[in-house]
Amino acid sequence: MIKFWTRRVEKGIITRNKELQTELEQIQKEIKQSVNKKFAGSLAIRMVDSGSCNACEAECNALSNPYYNLERLGIYFVASPRHADVLLLSGVMTFNMTPHVKDAYEQIPAPKWVISLGDCPMMQAPFERTYAINAPANEHLPIAHHIQGCPPTPLEIMQGLLEFLRKI
Ligand code: SF4
Repeated sequence: MIKFWTRRVEKGIITRNKELQTELEQIQKEIKQSVNKKFAGSLAIRMVDSGSCNACEAECNALSNPYYNLERLGIYFVASPRHADVLLLSGVMTFNMTPHVKDAYEQIPAPKWVISLGDCPMMQAPFERTYAINAPANEHLPIAHHIQGCPPTPLEIMQGLLEFLRKI
């Protein structure tokens, strides 16, 4: 037991990525400042899946864990578009979901923004027009910012949110 704790104290936490931690802390700090300044401390996001594989949603779920802790920065995922400032769109735009996505956008009170998440919403040729797909999403909604990746990591999503906050 003593051997274990001696080694533990000597080596520290070897799974901790210090560079990632520093970058994350910097992004968190800037996001919090921007949300305080531009959204009075609270930015509400309504996420809509227009036909995704669910990996983008899984990465977004990680944003609520104690490590990324997006809620502590003032960014919340909400259940109703009527409580939202931003529509976060994931997945390829399918014919079936197009009217529902547009409806969700209409329900958000102004001022409002759309952020597309992952490569699917911006799907280009040759698969953007099939019997099921009605892509790209920017033909249907005014996309204010796009977060690339398939799927983007939680850190990339936070970077994307920060870029959006800087832009507006
Ligand atoms: S961008 Fe990639 S991970 Fe995200 S929904 Fe599309 S296929 Fe899935």
